[in-house]
Amino acid sequence: MNITPKITPIYQTSVFKFDDLDAVQQYFDEPGSRYLYSRNGNPNSDELAEAVNRWEGGAGAVATGSGMAAIFAALLTYCQAGDHVLCAADIYGGSAALLNGELARLGIGASYVPFEELYALGPYVRPTTKLLLCETMSNPLLRVVDLRRAAAACRQHGLKLVVDNTFSTPVLTKPLAHGADLALHSVTKYLAGHSDVTAGAVVARTPDDADRLRQIGTVFGLTLSPMESWLSVRGLKTLRLRVAAHCDNALAVAEFLAGHPAVQAVYYPGLPAHPQHALAAAQGQGLFGGMLSFRLPDDAAAVNRFMRRSARFPFAPSLAGVDSSCSHPLHTSHRALTDAQRAELGITVGLVRLSVGIEPVAELLADLAQALG
Ligand SMILES: *Cc1c(COP(=O)(O)O)cnc(C)c1O
Repeated sequence: MNITPKITPIYQTSVFKFDDLDAVQQYFDEPGSRYLYSRNGNPNSDELAEAVNRWEGGAGAVATGSGMAAIFAALLTYCQAGDHVLCAADIYGGSAALLNGELARLGIGASYVPFEELYALGPYVRPTTKLLLCETMSNPLLRVVDLRRAAAACRQHGLKLVVDNTFSTPVLTKPLAHGADLALHSVTKYLAGHSDVTAGAVVARTPDDADRLRQIGTVFGLTLSPMESWLSVRGLKTLRLRVAAHCDNALAVAEFLAGHPAVQAVYYPGLPAHPQHALAAAQGQGLFGGMLSFRLPDDAAAVNRFMRRSARFPFAPSLAGVDSSCSHPLHTSHRALTDAQRAELGITVGLVRLSVGIEPVAELLADLAQALG
């Protein structure tokens, strides 16, 4: 019998068998020739890493157990105790929690760089500074970083540029092509795309960094399981189509909200009034992503009314699934920021974030109209 599956089966095994000592020697002598133990490598996690690597145009990648594990692996690629990192002030709350609460404890310090100063890092750089961490499109205010300028600023000071590309996806922007050293993802979001898996990935521009990443993934135990890898690979096959639909719908929702009297402001790079609209268009192939935020009055009752009335945007503090959802940065993703950080970013009780799905857009607009009415 010749079984030749079209799709990679799920290798739901923690370990692989060897006939004898020669076979195990082959594993060590010829890297990539066989598998040993799934934490070190598994056909499913390798398939995911290679798929994300291809999308991002890298020299190698590692699939991780979450987006947080991806950020941790990326930082450890370049940092050790005594080092210092720069981080864009507009950053995912979990990244801030990792830097403020945990890496500080391990002797890796962090300073936050305001958005406007990301291209002139001089005042923030110390002799121990190793890298800048930023997001292509920030969460939750959708500010767009000019990656070429950020990479140039990093090069000037001998820093590595690490880009969290979760919100943009490589359909819009490939950070490595703009000069980044590492691009990372919460695969949980658009890459997997169906809100049914927690996963991450980091892609390196150079083979040496890719080797370091794989070593860190294996030894710190950050690598991804076969089943989650398989689900992510399946999701990734429709990435281009899904992202195009997310972008079309988000633009229509942003335009609708911008014209609604109950809405005080809309943050979406696809609106001509967005401060980085031209940059977003150029850096994102004319696409602006599926995420947006908007401002209701700073009154929890108004936010609660919207959340209870909306049927198509359930309050579910994640994003990027094919089904729409809404979230509340102050109460969820950005809880870990300091009061000063939140105040500076304008993350107040009235700020609501939407993850616009791929449903028929007329249904989404009708739902928003009645929820805000
Ligand atoms: C969700 C998210 C993360 C963390 O990813 P997990 O898969 O939840 O660990 C990191 N960065 C961004 C921008 C995110 O949205």
